[in-house]
Amino acid sequence: MALYVQKYGGTSVGTIERIEAVADKVKSFHDAGHQIVVAVSAMSGETNRLISLAKQIDAAPAPREMDVLVSTGEQVTIALLAMALQKRGVDARSYTGWQVGIKTDSAFMKARIEDIDTANMRQHLDNGGVVIVAGFQGVDDDNNITTLGRGGSDTTGVALAAALKADECQIYTDVDGVYTTDPRVVPAARRMDKVTFEEMLEMASLGSKVLQIRSVEFAGKYKVPLRVLSSFTEGNGTLITTEENDSVENPVISGIAFNRDEAKITVKGVPDIPGVASRILVPVSDANIEVDMIVQNVSDDGSTDFTFTVHRNDYQKALKILNELAGELKAREVAGKDDICKVSLVGVGMRSHAGVASKMFKTLADENINILAITTSEIKISVVIAEKYLELAVRALHTAFGLDAEA
Ligand code: ADP
Ligand code: ASP
Ligand code: MG
Repeated sequence: MALYVQKYGGTSVGTIERIEAVADKVKSFHDAGHQIVVAVSAMSGETNRLISLAKQIDAAPAPREMDVLVSTGEQVTIALLAMALQKRGVDARSYTGWQVGIKTDSAFMKARIEDIDTANMRQHLDNGGVVIVAGFQGVDDDNNITTLGRGGSDTTGVALAAALKADECQIYTDVDGVYTTDPRVVPAARRMDKVTFEEMLEMASLGSKVLQIRSVEFAGKYKVPLRVLSSFTEGNGTLITTEENDSVENPVISGIAFNRDEAKITVKGVPDIPGVASRILVPVSDANIEVDMIVQNVSDDGSTDFTFTVHRNDYQKALKILNELAGELKAREVAGKDDICKVSLVGVGMRSHAGVASKMFKTLADENINILAITTSEIKISVVIAEKYLELAVRALHTAFGLDAEA
């Protein structure tokens, strides 16, 4: 007998039929004698629908009210799933975030879970019941409703598993595991049986939305066994593990992540003097804009072109700040592009293999794809390219690094 936390994502609870199918699945685990806590997302499309309602009133609504609004999506699914399980004779009970004491900080729309009171859940589990918790939401010290950022139900699932010391946290979604890259973009992508936490963290932070990055951080920190599986088909999915496989077959590259939410700004022809980077970037970070990649090219005439990337949502704001600063910085021009994307190779095998970067650059060059910026770390290489080449680049790299599934 095991204790499992099972998280079902938006598509998995997207219709009444799907909710009934999830109820069948949960019931079969319960019938097998396991204790089950379920975390659910809102029905697919619902969170976006709620956000668009708010935007019709105000382009920048108060974050506190946004959380009151968007947290309602999950409250619908917990009740419907509880009803479906009760219809099947299972003593299921739904709980909102505050009802199970999911305490967060007060950072609305991106709150972090600080504590979970497991007493209520334990009692219901010990009485043979199934616990159903609304994902994505919590409550701060002042009883304000908070939410955990897009995709946050994954984090609810992992945090519940950590608090309850569950045997496994199972993330049920619309793909049957973690693939070498998004299978919707590269049909030849391969499902991995295992992936290391370190790699999964990089993949998630570089744009693979199959798991919210915080859920992976949480699972790593609290040693929660984490598995990604399909709610539609049977199978073992992908286990996120701490083991590094040092076998000879260990691939150099495990996966390719990409992110379309990028934009780049170049401040051209600024005098190349000490402090120029901070004079450009401090006002940007003061405006709460996160800067990702940074590139600086110095030319012979003593001036420099300074390029950096930001989230596409922050692009206009960052551009405005720098246009206002251009005179003071003695910049020749401030230019920007938001039709770019970032493509990243990830793999712990990179540590022991040279030549990954040159092979990546050659593969892109052979496809006539221009690289606009590069960053590297021990287990990843990222490049910025024009968004129109995204699919081409990911497919070419997937083939070049031997990741394609055998036909
Ligand atoms: P859920 O609603 O269940 O949380 P998400 O849409 O958030 O589902 O995440 C699942 C999606 O993640 C898949 O449909 C797939 O398109 C995408 N995805 C991106 N990268 C990967 C990857 N490397 N492996 C599997 N799926 C990926
Ligand atoms: N419903 C929320 C979202 O769409 C949380 C989640 O699905 O994980 O982002
Ligand atoms: Mg998700």
